[in-house]
Amino acid sequence: MVKTSLIDPFLRPVTYLRLSVTDRCDFRCTYCMTEQMTFLPKKELLTLEELDQVATTFIGLGVRKLRITGGEPLVRRGIMGFFQAMSRHLESGALDELTLTTNGSQLGRFAQDLADAGMKRVNISLDTLDEQKFADITRRGRLSQVLDGIQAAKDAGLKVKLNAVAIKDFNQDELFTLTKFCADQAIDLTFIEVMPMGDMGEDGHIGKYWPLEDLRAELAGKYTLTDLSERTGGPARYVRVNETGQKIGFITPLSHNFCESCNRVRLTCTGELFTCLGQDGKSDLREPLRTHPGDMTQLEAAIRAAISLKPKGHDFDYSRQETSGQTKRYMSHTGG
Ligand code: SAM
Ligand code: SF4
Repeated sequence: MVKTSLIDPFLRPVTYLRLSVTDRCDFRCTYCMTEQMTFLPKKELLTLEELDQVATTFIGLGVRKLRITGGEPLVRRGIMGFFQAMSRHLESGALDELTLTTNGSQLGRFAQDLADAGMKRVNISLDTLDEQKFADITRRGRLSQVLDGIQAAKDAGLKVKLNAVAIKDFNQDELFTLTKFCADQAIDLTFIEVMPMGDMGEDGHIGKYWPLEDLRAELAGKYTLTDLSERTGGPARYVRVNETGQKIGFITPLSHNFCESCNRVRLTCTGELFTCLGQDGKSDLREPLRTHPGDMTQLEAAIRAAISLKPKGHDFDYSRQETSGQTKRYMSHTGG
């Protein structure tokens, strides 16, 4: 039975949990990680049982959508067992959606198991269709493996959405190629603005920032775009491309503030609950999980206390040609 739901101080119901299950990854995307990342010792991570307990507690408190992320969630050993366990909440009707954000590299192995666990959709991150550029931006990945992963997901009946980070002087010239690729594959596409997370080296993020307003204007030069009213409580806005029928999303946390309708919180793989992607404030859920194993009342109280402190919004701002409101943590830590 659903207990009183989670409502934050600004009367926004929290119904969406993004859960990071690992900080590790088989790629090292330049905007996400440093080349020599130091990963956390295993004992710091929530165990698979703890992940189940915490996700189940959130669901008991009214969370209806659970997105698993990382790091690369599919490189965590035993993670399929977690997905299979979560399928009980889909079957009971307590959860509307169990989904995943992945770099696609392991989907060849796991897509069918995910579909069998009740997953209907996956977000796959892919910024370029050029093999060399793909190798450069991921520092590790092979494009063909991800393309195979996309195919495997489609074959398993999963609806695929491609997420591409819009990066100045990197994939600007691929706007139409990426659009056509998705139209041909009948998959949705969303562009994401580079967010100021962690320390991205000399030119930081400003040098990489390609405002989606500009991207959209370029797209509108070639296609007729119809705005869609659809919102997901998050930072994405959508258009329909009349000529191809495909849907394109724009995630613009920097140029538009989306916080007024925010319905989500993020839990890191170490059990830190971030109630705002753009703020450093966090609450530790691992402590109540480990100090009172099996006693969910402590965990519930910690979750409620954290939600009562959910901030009104983020402070990301590139407008003064400096990165203010920058958070110190990496996206792989918070979970994108
Ligand atoms: N490894 C999985 C993947 O790549 O999809 C899941 C984790 S990844 C951190 C989630 C999303 O965050 C990816 O779409 C990635 O492109 C995006 N991301 C990472 N760092 C980012 C940044 N600095 N700005 C914008 N998006 C970022
Ligand atoms: Fe790994 Fe995803 Fe970060 Fe790339 S964006 S390094 S695939 S976690």
